[in-house]
Amino acid sequence: MDITILGAHNTESKDTGLVTLLIDDILAIDAGALTSRLSFAEQLKLKAILLTHQHYDHIRDIPAIGMNYFIRQKTLDIYGIPPVYESLAAHMLHEDIYSNFLEIPAGKPTIRFNSLEPGREDIIHGYNVLPIPVDHSKPTVGFFITSANGKTMFYTSDTGPRLSDVWRSVSPQLLIIETTAPSEFEDAAIEKKHLTPSLLEKELQNFNDIKGYLPPTVLVHMNPSEEEIIQKEIAKVAARLGASIKLGYEGMRLQI
Ligand SMILES: [Zn+2]
Ligand SMILES: [Zn+2]
Repeated sequence: MDITILGAHNTESKDTGLVTLLIDDILAIDAGALTSRLSFAEQLKLKAILLTHQHYDHIRDIPAIGMNYFIRQKTLDIYGIPPVYESLAAHMLHEDIYSNFLEIPAGKPTIRFNSLEPGREDIIHGYNVLPIPVDHSKPTVGFFITSANGKTMFYTSDTGPRLSDVWRSVSPQLLIIETTAPSEFEDAAIEKKHLTPSLLEKELQNFNDIKGYLPPTVLVHMNPSEEEIIQKEIAKVAARLGASIKLGYEGMRLQI
């Protein structure tokens, strides 16, 4: 399984993209940096887009990629839990804002939305996809993905702490998890349901206690203006845990 991080941050600039992962060039997870980071040809190679939740930074490019598919008369398969569909239909793809690719062209809409149910495995283009609920301010699922040759990764999406039940459900070879802000913002992170290095350390310790190992871990959703502090704190966390923990970046390629 080859994973490319198209966007690794929680805010966008010329140098930073909103969190988006690309698996084997055909499966995208989240849509914050799809159209800005992929050529038209690369966008049209996608077999499916999995969306973790309805927050803007994770669905931002759906109208734009929808238009690229629409003008080429292609169908785009999107997978997500029902609240994501409701947000797309009510806002991002509402005709007040842009074309409603959920309904046009009539009879064969550009976007085909496929509903996922938390805890239910689906086979999507040869990948086993298990959506697992995490604790965030809107209904959110992380994705545990197993490739046809048995490689596994888990992406938490945006999440607060208390991941014990999640850890019991997955045994990934690679963990991609959010760490939004430095540890001094721990209280705010708990309130907004995000993680800091201090909170991440407890969650990874807990993972190790439950599973007896720690997978290589890559962080995403960092606040770019605080990234140097996060990097320093994470280096200490990694040393204390004896773990491989790296900050993700745009264009980072991971292989499992
Ligand atoms: Zn979010
Ligand atoms: Zn986010």
